[in-house]
Amino acid sequence: MKAALLSIGDELLLGETVDTNAAVIAGRLYGVGVAVRRQLTVGDDEEAIAEALDSLAAEHQLVIATGGLGPTDDDVTARAAAQASGRRLVLHEEALARLQDFFARRGREMHPANERQCLLPARVTLVPNPTGTASGFQLLHRDCLLIFLPGVPGEMVRMLEETVLPLVLARRDESRVVRTRQLTLFGVSEAEIGARLTGLTVARPGLGVAYCVDYPLVQVRLRGEGDGSEAVQRLLDGAAAEVRERLGEHIVAEDGESIDLAVARLFREKRVSLALAESCTGGLIAKRITDVAGSSAYFLLGAVTYANGAKVRLLDVPEELLAAKGAVSAEVAMAMAKGARRLAGSDLALAVTGIAGPEGGDAVKPVGTVFIALADRAGCTSKEYRFSGSRDQIRTVTAVTALDWLRR
Ligand code: ATP
Ligand code: MG
Repeated sequence: MKAALLSIGDELLLGETVDTNAAVIAGRLYGVGVAVRRQLTVGDDEEAIAEALDSLAAEHQLVIATGGLGPTDDDVTARAAAQASGRRLVLHEEALARLQDFFARRGREMHPANERQCLLPARVTLVPNPTGTASGFQLLHRDCLLIFLPGVPGEMVRMLEETVLPLVLARRDESRVVRTRQLTLFGVSEAEIGARLTGLTVARPGLGVAYCVDYPLVQVRLRGEGDGSEAVQRLLDGAAAEVRERLGEHIVAEDGESIDLAVARLFREKRVSLALAESCTGGLIAKRITDVAGSSAYFLLGAVTYANGAKVRLLDVPEELLAAKGAVSAEVAMAMAKGARRLAGSDLALAVTGIAGPEGGDAVKPVGTVFIALADRAGCTSKEYRFSGSRDQIRTVTAVTALDWLRR
């Protein structure tokens, strides 16, 4: 089933309102296996709406329009729908009865202007709106099901769930199935991923690959379309296995799981406890660890030791070491990790120290220099990184790199 969305409203064209309706509807349709092929936005203009409806109806079997069903003069969607489908505009008795009932139940007087909202194209079926005054409606035009919903997001969503999605499910071609699979990668650029996945779709008809940067992570989205869910499942399984083979070491999570959740799952499974000592990330890693409910099962302590004095007093980092090597050094990172492990009595402790910028740093240790260290019973290891970007980006990539260490 080819589907399109039409968003109506001057506020959308002016950029005053972000079109969340289209995103919500596209997502829900995708969830029931219907992929939206086109999204269009037009202003509150009868001619423009009618033209858009007519051209979308010619190329799709389902069009969902939102907005422009209000009681004021600038709401012209119903008139445009009548024009596009060659119907008269008539007072819809059932819509009027519903609207009168809507006001009566709330003990309110209906404003005569609201009656305008019951002027609909002839022979439409209503899409009931339990929470607002605008009637939704549907009609068939050129073998295309046109569905009209109000712009108010809360009203729209409820009507989508209660009436529209069941309608779509009943009409969609059962045999055609669309599914997606998502792999989250870290430590490799989008360009490099694209190059390494060259040819993935060759000999895999129905497979699509898309890349989406969610800094510093890259999402690889596999989309499979085919006859029957088993065939599509096999297609996606095969493609995901190929991605794992080519980029396995960089995959940090799959199918919507975040790296934070992947770390949490691992710690719970391994029954290992954790402590953190953070400098340049200022608690960001601890925040991400504790964002996950149930983290108290393995996370014991996080120390934000920003000043040298705090590193000395809380973590027993030797003053001479700080003086000799500087706070941003492998030696201090390791001393912090060992100190945090002692302090917390944990199995593992991870420490970060670095220069997030924009000031600070020199030729030897420029902004973006970060040391990460991990201490366990056996000893302690550390690694130096040179990250780039804004302060925010350096702190974020440091936190994700630390989480990536914990994932291994
Ligand atoms: P109705 O048909 O229910 O009267 P409308 O769009 O004509 O809807 P408006 O007053 O223009 O009524 O919009 C109602 C609210 O819904 C506004 O806050 C508007 O910004 C919001 N809205 C309209 N369209 C969208 C959309 N596509 N995405 C998100 N919000 C929207
Ligand atoms: Mg509007």
